[in-house]
Amino acid sequence: MANGDLDLELSSAFDGIYDTQNGIAVFKMLIDGNWRSSERGELLDVHTPIDGSIVAKAQMATVSDVVSATKAAKENRGINELPGRERIEIFERTVALMEKHRDEFVRVLQIEAGKTKSDAKGEFDAAVQRLRLSRQEAERFWGEVIPGEWNYSTKEKMAVIIREPVGVVAAIIPFNYPLFIAAAKIVPALLAGNSVVIKPSSSNPISAILLTRVLENAGVPKGSMNLITGRGEESGDALVKSENVDMINFTGSTPVGKRISQMAVMKRLHLELGGKAYALVLEDADLDLAAAKCVHGSLKFAGQRCDAVSAILATEPIAETLSVKIVTEVDKWKLGDPRDPSVTIGPVISLRAAASINDLVKDAVTNGAQLLRGGKFQSTYFEPTVLDYVPPHAKIAREEVFGPVISIIRCKDEQEALNFARQSNFGLESCVFTRDFSRMWRVARALECGEVTINDYPSHGVGYFPFGGIKQSGLGREGIGYSIEEMTNLKTIVFNLAPGKREI
Ligand code: NAP
Repeated sequence: MANGDLDLELSSAFDGIYDTQNGIAVFKMLIDGNWRSSERGELLDVHTPIDGSIVAKAQMATVSDVVSATKAAKENRGINELPGRERIEIFERTVALMEKHRDEFVRVLQIEAGKTKSDAKGEFDAAVQRLRLSRQEAERFWGEVIPGEWNYSTKEKMAVIIREPVGVVAAIIPFNYPLFIAAAKIVPALLAGNSVVIKPSSSNPISAILLTRVLENAGVPKGSMNLITGRGEESGDALVKSENVDMINFTGSTPVGKRISQMAVMKRLHLELGGKAYALVLEDADLDLAAAKCVHGSLKFAGQRCDAVSAILATEPIAETLSVKIVTEVDKWKLGDPRDPSVTIGPVISLRAAASINDLVKDAVTNGAQLLRGGKFQSTYFEPTVLDYVPPHAKIAREEVFGPVISIIRCKDEQEALNFARQSNFGLESCVFTRDFSRMWRVARALECGEVTINDYPSHGVGYFPFGGIKQSGLGREGIGYSIEEMTNLKTIVFNLAPGKREI
């Protein structure tokens, strides 16, 4: 992709899912098997974070569009009527089609999310790999048999426990992994026999729209897969409240997750929310490893990752040396236009995001933190920033940053670092750097979060290992087989093995 070239350049496989107005693609929604415009005809602008220009438009779904999409999903359970083998074949065709359109997906991810080519390729590959692994895992969902003979009242009974789809799954997607998270929700939902309504982020809905077309072309039955676009407050709210929806599978911020959990009365909830991953660097750690990993974990995709290393808790004896090494590592990163192959850190998603990162940095400095690198931004481009001596009461010590900022909080020892981390409202990820096995175990057990990584930065990757949060980081677990499990209900079928005996 040459500089200045922000054309989406879609092949004929995507004909019919958009119209062109004044040279800009206007994407439609998929409702009940038809690609159509919103009832009100209102559109939302999709800006690229690269230079802020409008690269596409999408429909602004109304409440009535949401009703049509959820009704279609409720009434069209065709996916559940297909034998599992046929569902798997649909996903084999999906993988083949995605591979065929790889360059288009990578290009769209670069343009709509501002990713470097390497980050965009990484996301595409993870989405395809997730599809492959989910398809394998689906074949393992057999259920179980429980003989009743170990209990007096069930002695002559036996239960068969099977898994059934929950029904209609609403999948709500954040901006940071718009293709991967869409695939990681839709694929297990459909494999398990659910029908789906997906709502991508308004910031960058295009890759999820392309994925929906690919699934349609791969043979997902009409109406089993629906897509709406539009602002969360209108279409998202309507989706969450809809009586046609049985489960909300949401990834996004904690405030929106909380709002959803209040609105979604008596629905199955899977909430993957915000995080504040602390990296505990203890005095016996390999400091070169810790510095390189913490910086990578903080700056990858401009820090816009729920599992980003968000603050480093450095124990006193090594804090100074670690701080110097961190600055040396940060200086290797290059900020700029993500279309330039030498650039390793691109823009953040919006001007609003850049301003809120700036507020957190300013607050830390006002409260006494030392600014060792960065701290400035121009439009959506925020310099890789290092803050040392961040005081525990600074907002940045506790809040999610979602930007390329490394905060070093100096702690007296392991216990002080642990006490600090355990007070967090979030509970998604943490990591610890140490060479001592008993410390690895002790610290991992003491940290209050869904996943602890030892001697590396946290990274969900394709979800090969299960992940998910506790406290304000969410409910439920993502993961290859775990996601399928989350989107099914257990049904117990009890057989009376001695129907001839009539005594009650
Ligand atoms: P967000 O603002 O919460 O938005 C996420 C999605 O929710 C978007 O599609 C948004 O639509 C929609 N939404 C907004 N208000 C809604 C409402 N009232 N009802 C229903 N849906 C609504 O999050 P984001 O800024 O896109 O993503 C960043 C956040 O996601 C961070 O906090 C990050 O930690 C979290 N995240 C967590 C994980 C994890 O695995 N735990 C993974 C990735 C990201 P609009 O775009 O139209 O507003």
